[in-house]
Amino acid sequence: MAVMESTDWTLTCGKDPSTQVLVFLDFQSLAILPPTHELRVLPCEVAAIAYSLREGIIKKFHSFIDPGPIPLGFRYLCKSTSEFTHQLPLDGPPEGIGDPGLVANDLLDFIRKSTRKPYVVFCAECEKQKVDYCLQWLSEKTVFPCIASLSLQPLLVKYYTQAGAPSPTLYSATQLLSLSTWDFHSKSRCNFHSDIDVKHCALGTVNRLAYCLSNCLAPIHNITLTSSHIPPIPEASVEQCVL
Ligand SMILES: [Zn+2]
Repeated sequence: MAVMESTDWTLTCGKDPSTQVLVFLDFQSLAILPPTHELRVLPCEVAAIAYSLREGIIKKFHSFIDPGPIPLGFRYLCKSTSEFTHQLPLDGPPEGIGDPGLVANDLLDFIRKSTRKPYVVFCAECEKQKVDYCLQWLSEKTVFPCIASLSLQPLLVKYYTQAGAPSPTLYSATQLLSLSTWDFHSKSRCNFHSDIDVKHCALGTVNRLAYCLSNCLAPIHNITLTSSHIPPIPEASVEQCVL
């Protein structure tokens, strides 16, 4: 697939952008391995949501993944990465881990039913390289069509422009998508990460993208926020981000 920017993608949609269904995707990896290693990631958790500005979060996909054997010499890196981030045991959480081929098929099915060709998923700019490596890893487990991952920041800017509102810079867009308000909200994460109260959860990451997007865009698109957009929280605790 030719390189495509998220703003190009919205131009091809040809419909009200607020009704366009977007898929947000994120992974947790046991570690990010050095460039010299043929394996760059060891995916252990994946989550995706289908979202539209009009409807909020429409449906969710979440699974733990069997990352396979840890390459020789990298067990300590995996253990320390886990301790400082997602805290998933190296042999998987008690809930069990999914066969990579089955998870890849289920994820693909979710993406196919949520969006249309060309298959595009969105993630935060800072997660894009990891998401790309994980998609490449999954594509080797099943027959996987080309799925492009795009940064959400340019799309956020585009949504401002389409509403006739002053556009944030890409830096401001990153801030708008990084509010910590919902990092530890009880409904944002999977059961495992909610129970141990850790924010490094793939499901938590994609949910927070949806909450942040809804928080800044709903007012300028005249959309009434519902519990599908943002989980109910005391109004006073919502962070305000000044552009
Ligand atoms: Zn989780």
